[in-house]
Amino acid sequence: MIGFRREVVDGPGRHAQQWRLTMAPASDSARTLFSAYWRQQFRRRLRAWYRRAARELPWRTKRDAYRVWVSEIMLQQTQVVTVEAYFKRFLTAFPTVKALAAADEQQVLRLWEGLGYYRRARQLHAAAREIAERHGGRFPRDLEAIRSLPGIGRYTAGAIASIAFDTSAPILEANTIRLLARLLAYRDDVTKAAGQTMLWTAAEELLPRRDVGIFNQALMELGSLVCTPREPKCDECPARALCPTFAQGLVEAIPAPKAKTNYEAVDEAAVVVRRGDKVLLRLCEPGERWAGLWDFPRFVIDKNAKGRLAEQLVAGVLQQAGIEVEPADRLATIKHGVTRYRITLQCHAAHFVRAVPRRGKSGPQLRWLQVHELANVPLNTTGRKICQFVGKWMGK
Ligand code: SF4
Repeated sequence: MIGFRREVVDGPGRHAQQWRLTMAPASDSARTLFSAYWRQQFRRRLRAWYRRAARELPWRTKRDAYRVWVSEIMLQQTQVVTVEAYFKRFLTAFPTVKALAAADEQQVLRLWEGLGYYRRARQLHAAAREIAERHGGRFPRDLEAIRSLPGIGRYTAGAIASIAFDTSAPILEANTIRLLARLLAYRDDVTKAAGQTMLWTAAEELLPRRDVGIFNQALMELGSLVCTPREPKCDECPARALCPTFAQGLVEAIPAPKAKTNYEAVDEAAVVVRRGDKVLLRLCEPGERWAGLWDFPRFVIDKNAKGRLAEQLVAGVLQQAGIEVEPADRLATIKHGVTRYRITLQCHAAHFVRAVPRRGKSGPQLRWLQVHELANVPLNTTGRKICQFVGKWMGK
């Protein structure tokens, strides 16, 4: 049976221990990761610290599942300072689940614009519709019902259920992964299944009987403000006296550093096609990088194919939009990153020549818009940047 084994690695003493996931007899696996004394001390210190140090954040002003949910989805891959303004705007536009369910997806995406990872917004919208249809517009309280909604995994369900309803549910996200790994002096890879199993067990074991939501928020806050990825503020940490990582001087080594990402350079072109006083946008289709958002025709180019750029621009627009163009000026070059790709995006202008009908194939969704109308449609971040050059090019 798989269990956890405590290893003494650095002489005697309460802190000189590390945890590893290993094959162990059943009796071993029943042992707890933290002693009852440790848990009690930790909870007491953490609560006292949180009462003093908790930030005032817009989603904390009311204990409401909808607010917790929206904030948790926005906070995935995004920092608190960025999320605050987005959260306020979003809640002003959609103050309730019902209001979000009734909204048009384009409106939702427009308000999400700039936050990235747009799948989150589409799933949030889909889940709101499901809550409206299956739960009469009331956010479900049951953990499994919450978890069955689009875009909600174990962590988000635990956060909503514990914070909004005080359900006894553990949480594990970037901040608590780091914090718990250090509180366990866990030296192996926290992203692997063994590490995840151990950390979820730890998160569950630490839960208090009451005020679970406050406890979970306090854990995240400690990870976010004090037990930071680099140079954690151990001197200000309420758990310092309980922390084996601090005691063993392993703060820089835990959690184990992630494997380096191998970035890939990609060359792309975006083409602003002009027809009179309007420019062309196409709706990104399901499966594309920015599905559901509008974009200028955009595609990968081969920059080494010397003297053939104009040819590639013509072919790319024809293939994506069924429009023949005549390339004009280069408007700008934008460098940006998407996941592991480092993209050099060349933005070109082009003039409309003619539409080329496609046989037996439904065409892409296209729109011709005046410059001032571009503000009303959801675009990705670089698409929005291109709009600035479009205005200049068209003298608007
Ligand atoms: S003492 Fe330092 S390493 Fe340990 S939990 Fe606190 S901030 Fe993190």
